[in-house]
Amino acid sequence: MEIARKKIAVIFATRPDAIKLAPVIQELQKHDRFFSLCIITTAQHRELLDDVLSVFSIAPKYDLNVMGLRQTPSTLAVNILEKLDYVLAMEQPDMVIVQGDTATTFAASLAAFHRKIPIAHVEAGLRTNDKMQPFPEETYRRLTTHVADLHFSSTPTATKALLKEGISKRSIVCSGNTVIDALLKTIQPIYQFRTGPLNEVIGQNKKIVTVTTHRKENLGEPMLRICSALKEISVLHPEINFVFPVHLNPAVRETVFGMLHDLPNIILMEPLNYPDFIHLIAKSYAVITDSGGLQEEASALGKPVLLLRNVTERLEAIKYGTVKLVGTETKNIVSAAHRLLGTGKVYRSKATAIHLYGDGKASERIVGTLLKYFGFSKQRIKEFATHL
Ligand code: UDP
Repeated sequence: MEIARKKIAVIFATRPDAIKLAPVIQELQKHDRFFSLCIITTAQHRELLDDVLSVFSIAPKYDLNVMGLRQTPSTLAVNILEKLDYVLAMEQPDMVIVQGDTATTFAASLAAFHRKIPIAHVEAGLRTNDKMQPFPEETYRRLTTHVADLHFSSTPTATKALLKEGISKRSIVCSGNTVIDALLKTIQPIYQFRTGPLNEVIGQNKKIVTVTTHRKENLGEPMLRICSALKEISVLHPEINFVFPVHLNPAVRETVFGMLHDLPNIILMEPLNYPDFIHLIAKSYAVITDSGGLQEEASALGKPVLLLRNVTERLEAIKYGTVKLVGTETKNIVSAAHRLLGTGKVYRSKATAIHLYGDGKASERIVGTLLKYFGFSKQRIKEFATHL
């Protein structure tokens, strides 16, 4: 007997969200007797997203391509809301899955809510408790919480934050973060880099520190201070190669290329494809970044992180000691980096691989919860599994 399948719309916009939803999409595809998929991307960052889609063989049915010049947060949100309303009206999914904290996450949740479609929010409950940092993401994530029906939190801390905001315990599942699923699926013991210049750097057998920075709060003055710090650190540590894949945001590129292009041990690169990037982290001695997801990946790979932010929504690794919040003042970054990179004792105390953010089974838990949510009994799932 055929089962009435449930249609799940998975909606995302950016490279990190595609990375984090890829394992969920793959897990839903394994259960295609129960679920049909409608993948929708709004492609807030076209080039970075396309690479991830091809790595994980994900083919969106709709590409709303909302990226435009001179968008304000409001015009972007309106644009996404309007286009998604139209797609949701046509597709009539049984559930919408969103991830994280982007304009798309919130606008898609609102569009689904208006059409009374249940919403599952992956990576729910992260909070800095400062509505301006990260801006506008902290507030988008918080608003999404209050229209979502199911909340997949990465850690007990995130679960507690949701409970504190009055979210019912029954609607929260602490699944772990799917970024760890993606990492463990992709990482290989022996790996050949696809990016030519990266092979050359690795071939030099010098210590590597990977650097990334792109946060909106860090554009302008903070990024100038970060680059000054990197300059000083590279002079203090000529024995280290600093590999810096530079984000495509023109404001980031202008500052970074302008200030760091002529230092012998700072290697500026184009953004790397995801498998190359995580294998670069695996080969790195440490990481200097303002990224969100990278804090989770680096912790799982045992790489100490100096975090170029004033606040973070990921407190676990800070408490554990593998991530250090250093802010964006030049002298603070330089002294923290010199301490970490200069003394083996400090380094060793921080370089422990620890799965604070998940065990690689988050997407199984998420899809298991959806099966239960739609009333597919264990017996029925087993029957179908034996027919596969
Ligand atoms: N990443 C990548 N190539 C790069 C830099 C980052 O594939 O050159 C991946 C990285 O593994 C992580 C995600 O992109 O999963 C982080 O993205 P980003 O720092 O842009 O966003 P955030 O996590 O801060 O939202």
